[in-house]
Amino acid sequence: MSADRVIDNPESFFNEALWQLRTLRCPGCGRSDVTLARAGVAARAHHVVYEQEVRRRGGALHDTRNAMGVCDPCHARHHDGTPWRLALSALTAEHHAFAAELLGDSAGDYLARRYGSSTGGGTTYGMASICAGVTVPRSTSSA
Ligand SMILES: [Zn+2]
Ligand SMILES: [Zn+2]
Repeated sequence: MSADRVIDNPESFFNEALWQLRTLRCPGCGRSDVTLARAGVAARAHHVVYEQEVRRRGGALHDTRNAMGVCDPCHARHHDGTPWRLALSALTAEHHAFAAELLGDSAGDYLARRYGSSTGGGTTYGMASICAGVTVPRSTSSA
């Protein structure tokens, strides 16, 4: 494990989320950081692997690789227990790398249970057409 590469502090974590909103837009609704600011909607730094799970496993709570930029309403909706979820396809290579490092073989299951899939499973998400336009960023920055 390359612990020396891990950036782990709340400010960097939130900045990473903001950067994602700026470049990728909200994975739930497709709005950019500018659009959100104009609408008075707050940005949220979502933990891709949930905070309690990171804590339970003794991982770095503010590892920037685990940060996902999401707008406030989409973030609330993801966590409110209704079937709508942020799409699994919106997760970046870094998100997957962090999950694999922390959760090992169960990473795939963990993420599949918490994020929406476009291929059945009864999971619905209303903004499918917009979500489909969200692409993985930073095409393998050889990290
Ligand atoms: Zn949103
Ligand atoms: Zn969250």
